[in-house]
Amino acid sequence: MSLLSVRNLSHTYPNGYQALHDISFDVQAGEFLVIIGLSGSGKSTLLRCLNRLIEPTQGTILMNGTDVTHVSDAALRSHRAGIGMIFQHFNLIPRHSVVNNVLYGSLGSTPTMASILGRFTAEQRQKALQALDVVGIREKADVRADALSGGQQQRVAIARALMQNPSLLLADEPVASLDPATSHSVMDYLERVNKDLGTTVICNLHFLSLVRRYATRVIALKGGRMVFNGQPDEITDTWFKTIYGEEAMEVEIR
Ligand code: ADP
Repeated sequence: MSLLSVRNLSHTYPNGYQALHDISFDVQAGEFLVIIGLSGSGKSTLLRCLNRLIEPTQGTILMNGTDVTHVSDAALRSHRAGIGMIFQHFNLIPRHSVVNNVLYGSLGSTPTMASILGRFTAEQRQKALQALDVVGIREKADVRADALSGGQQQRVAIARALMQNPSLLLADEPVASLDPATSHSVMDYLERVNKDLGTTVICNLHFLSLVRRYATRVIALKGGRMVFNGQPDEITDTWFKTIYGEEAMEVEIR
């Protein structure tokens, strides 16, 4: 059984704009799937459908065989609990310590008063420090999050996501606001999580050089339609122009 099975997924926003058209694909446990496509092609909408921040208007999403397309309440919370999320702008609480930011990952979406006052169990703190170890940043545990560089903050966000023991990690443009050297470091840690912990990763990326380096499979969207589903080394110049348009030129990040 696939970890994730997406069938004929479409999404139309309330203003009538159809952002996704009839998308179908499967994701096996352990894959590092990268979604590419121009800005506005629907990558973010697709990720948000997968963790059900958006309720799709058509089609089905199965997670481990369970239909999660329209679940609500406890079933929706349970679905989301298995999925870690990483954002372009990290979404840390800037004035709080690194370790507390990681600990918030073990809660629901918003920190409770008790947790803001630092009332976590020793076991939870130990787990948070272990998560910081995974992203190589344990020594920053007691530093304020806003004292870290962008790349370090994104690594904290990865550690925070790990507190959920996710079977799936969704990363929405995780390196889009980082410089090239830092981008590789963050991608290396995502790869480590994928390989060492076996967490399946689905990630939106802009630079094809990163896609070729990290993806085990690639899906390309164009105007909300899936136009490619294959291996990174199958993206030839012809495919590149199909995905990004005749005028597009590849820019490398090394
Ligand atoms: P990408 O992540 O590839 O840049 P998005 O999924 O963010 O693309 O957006 C896909 C399309 O849907 C874009 O044309 C965007 O303008 C549109 N869109 C995104 N969010 C909304 C919304 N809340 N209401 C209407 N249209 C939206």
